[in-house]
Amino acid sequence: MPDTLVPAVTDAIELTRALVRCESVTPREGGALQHLERTLAPIGFRCERMDFAQAGTDDVANLYARIGSGGKHFCFAGHSDVVPVGDLSSWTIGPFSAELSNGYLFGRGAADMKGAIAAFTEAAQRFIARRGRDFGGSISLLITGDEEGPAVNGTVKMLKRLAGRGETIDDCVVGEPTSSRRFGDMMKIGRRGSMTVDLTVRGIQGHVGYPERLDNAVHRLSAIIEALVREPIDKGSTHFQPSSLQFTTVDVGNKATNIAPGVVKARFNTRFNDLWTSKTLFTHLQGRIERANAALGGNGTIEYDNVEVSGESFYTQPGPLTDLVAGAVRDVAAIEPELSTTGGTSDARFIRAYCPVLEFGLVGETMHKVDEKSAVTDIRTLARVYETVLDRYFAA
Ligand SMILES: [Zn+2]
Repeated sequence: MPDTLVPAVTDAIELTRALVRCESVTPREGGALQHLERTLAPIGFRCERMDFAQAGTDDVANLYARIGSGGKHFCFAGHSDVVPVGDLSSWTIGPFSAELSNGYLFGRGAADMKGAIAAFTEAAQRFIARRGRDFGGSISLLITGDEEGPAVNGTVKMLKRLAGRGETIDDCVVGEPTSSRRFGDMMKIGRRGSMTVDLTVRGIQGHVGYPERLDNAVHRLSAIIEALVREPIDKGSTHFQPSSLQFTTVDVGNKATNIAPGVVKARFNTRFNDLWTSKTLFTHLQGRIERANAALGGNGTIEYDNVEVSGESFYTQPGPLTDLVAGAVRDVAAIEPELSTTGGTSDARFIRAYCPVLEFGLVGETMHKVDEKSAVTDIRTLARVYETVLDRYFAA
């Protein structure tokens, strides 16, 4: 018997626009979670702010909202924060004005990923309007304000708190914009790991006219770069593309034209597949670096100033959850999603320690770019996909 107190369906487009208007650039809450809370509470969700602070990091606002207390627990995870707008003058419309034009909804977060949050909210509302609040299970939204930032005070701590009080999640879908070229063509069932390494290479500074008295640190580094990028790290695995390594900066700071530098700093990032852990990969790369350094002779040294691992690689074996979501995409959007592990990291890397997780959402082509946008029809279709997922997940 549908609950008569359930309000009219919240329109996913209007909700996306309202959320885009909230300037929630990490770590600012910007009113986005407040607005979401005001939308979810009347549907019957128990809303709980899980805000976290940690010395040396920004305070972060997060929202956990759940309806139902027993039965199977389906969680939708996402983030309300957005990346900065970048060069504002390059935008053809205001990044926070949420304008509709030519069938698209424009604005920062339209694709990544306020549109998906709104789509899931509409889906849940429709589902509850039909099935009532006592549908025999639980639905939750786990929305962090710290995904695009350091991701320290967000999903990780929320999951820990839930686990600490004995609250378990059975299955989770993350609403990242995983579609590649057209809606529904891709979902993510794993992600590569990410590791950033900061190096200092030391040689001997000297006058450029006396090469026998110096050991140029830049030349030493160039041999090291060559050793790291000449041979591929691997050829890829069954589910993953080859691991990649990119130098992101090289810093010498030498203004003089007659001095060969004795010190150079550099940084590289690797995106690695499931053939490695961050530890085994680091050992492998360190071997390449040390061999290249030794081959040059002399007394040059390498210091590893910082090694930052923002996530290990992970892979969710296709099973009931992937079948459920792929089936819903197929039936609603008439397209077969590819099960992929490409792209950057996401908070799914934290969730996979707790339950099966996959990512499915809008077309990500414009994410983090100027004039970010989503097709209005895509947001509506996504809402129907999510609703179908809920229907089948909680099939009587
Ligand atoms: Zn995102």
